[in-house]
Amino acid sequence: MYAVNGKLLSVNLSDGTFTSEEVSLEQYKKYLGGYGLGAALLMERMDPAADALDPGNILGFAAGYLTGTGAYIASRFMVFGKSPLTGGWGDSNCGAHLGKKMKQAGYDTILLSGKSENPVYLYVNEGKAELIPCEELWGTDTFHAEDFLKEKYGKGCQVACIGPAGERMTAMAGISTDKGRYAARSGLGAVMGSKNLKALVVNGNIPIEIKNQNKLNELRKKHAPDFKEEFPATLRKYGTSMFYNLAIHEGDAPFKNWSTSIEEYPGKDNTVDEAETILELQTKRYACQGCPIACGGHVEVKSGPFKTEGLQHKAEFETMGLFGPNLLNDNMESLQKLNEVCNRWGIDTITTGGLCGYAIESFENGYITKEQTGGLELAWSDAEVILKLVEKIGKNEGIGAILSQGFEAAVKEFGEETRKYVMAVRNEGMPAHDPRWSADLALTYYTDATPARHTQGCTTFAVAGYTMPEGDNAEAVGHRDNVNLYHAFSSLGLCVFGFSVFDYHNLPGFFEAIDGTKWTVEDFDKAGARIHLLRHMFNLKAGIRYNKFSFPKRVLGPLPSGKTKGVVVPLEDMVKEYEKQYRLDPETLVPDESILKELDIAHFK
Ligand code: SF4
Repeated sequence: MYAVNGKLLSVNLSDGTFTSEEVSLEQYKKYLGGYGLGAALLMERMDPAADALDPGNILGFAAGYLTGTGAYIASRFMVFGKSPLTGGWGDSNCGAHLGKKMKQAGYDTILLSGKSENPVYLYVNEGKAELIPCEELWGTDTFHAEDFLKEKYGKGCQVACIGPAGERMTAMAGISTDKGRYAARSGLGAVMGSKNLKALVVNGNIPIEIKNQNKLNELRKKHAPDFKEEFPATLRKYGTSMFYNLAIHEGDAPFKNWSTSIEEYPGKDNTVDEAETILELQTKRYACQGCPIACGGHVEVKSGPFKTEGLQHKAEFETMGLFGPNLLNDNMESLQKLNEVCNRWGIDTITTGGLCGYAIESFENGYITKEQTGGLELAWSDAEVILKLVEKIGKNEGIGAILSQGFEAAVKEFGEETRKYVMAVRNEGMPAHDPRWSADLALTYYTDATPARHTQGCTTFAVAGYTMPEGDNAEAVGHRDNVNLYHAFSSLGLCVFGFSVFDYHNLPGFFEAIDGTKWTVEDFDKAGARIHLLRHMFNLKAGIRYNKFSFPKRVLGPLPSGKTKGVVVPLEDMVKEYEKQYRLDPETLVPDESILKELDIAHFK
């Protein structure tokens, strides 16, 4: 096959058996690989009502259909399964270098079921797979685990692993690769831990076949200038920290647990762009596999309270937003150190930053005592105390052991009165983009199968080449189209920054070169709608309906000051329009038979 090798590996960790299966081109065309194919497979193979930490939950790793083919910018792999954090469908998307290596190791998709009796890692090399005991790695941090495995198998292999947080089944545990690139959302690191699986190691050099390499080279050459324009060039220079200054000044970023604006931020009068400050800490650039943008970087804080242990991945915008303005913290060095601590222990920086906001506000208002914090005086703007709190969360110590189980566990411990400080949807912490700045983000945060995600489609971050429709329900149609396209392109393995730059009308040409198939842009829309609704249907079968859950009222406004002062987000009205677009019953949220038939997924109902 072209683009993929058409192989799926199923591993039963309970009895140590392996099954290799063929995946047809038809399945790839319908679900696009990645979590799209994953949603279809899990709907067929597991009970969505199973507990997320039960051996019956299936954890999947999958490369996108285009991952590693040389199509712009296709580096991504995805992890999927039932989420212990939200209780529904979970997926998480990551770049780095593992996706292509999975294909070169012989499998585009790996499904893991059951539970090993003792800690193991899975080693896959050119079609051969084995489970290898690893008591010696259990309890080690993600950096050590990856170093150990790369030492053993050589630098050419790729590793995805969990830290101690995942082993302990911490609700917001993520999965690390390249010592700090993360499949962080949905708590899927905890699912890995529940299976006693420390790591996945992939190795090999099986070629990824391309139908017409010359044609692909021509297309890449033709479109290379697209990635040299101002936006990608700035992204290459600064990384996602380029968004920080704009976000805090325009009202995109949250302040003080989403309660205020830049007015209370200590760094509001900074004359130097924060991205410049961070650039001074950067000593090395980093690119995911085959990416012409190369937005990553390695930084080092050489001394002081936030000294990093050598070079670390530069904190991304979301990490900066949640540990920065959200906590009224303007210390850029501390953001790098907080990123390192989360990466090392294996926890999601977004939900962790949100939990810090919850804890500080609860402490400030007397719901959490100094005794409960182990002597820490939790306070806004105090970067050193924030670091100590995050270390406690990572190490599962004292108050950290409660917070590490997420917002719901914290409310249970510290009282229902603290719920008003929870800025999360279904236990998943809110990312650093404020719906008062971009209203339909609230709709994505609320209705997507994996809630509180900024990478699941919205009109503010519309895909390149998309033209907003006109007319009465233009916003709702625009939202639906972008949700569909985001799911399609993400499942294909494209990076969100790639499809923010690269006009998707060019993609059919790439398909013709890569595998010889004919695509229309409508095909992407249809596949994306299919993936979106399949994930939604997984949730319905798991007993999760978004309308049974509340959205944090504070995030819908109004703010007392700042650029978005007074804005109120009309979430209820938007939800009604959204449900019409996807033909969902307003009460049960079951999609109408007609749309399921159009998308050829009625058999999943
Ligand atoms: S744009 Fe950045 S995150 Fe996306 S693939 Fe390139 S280096 Fe990775």
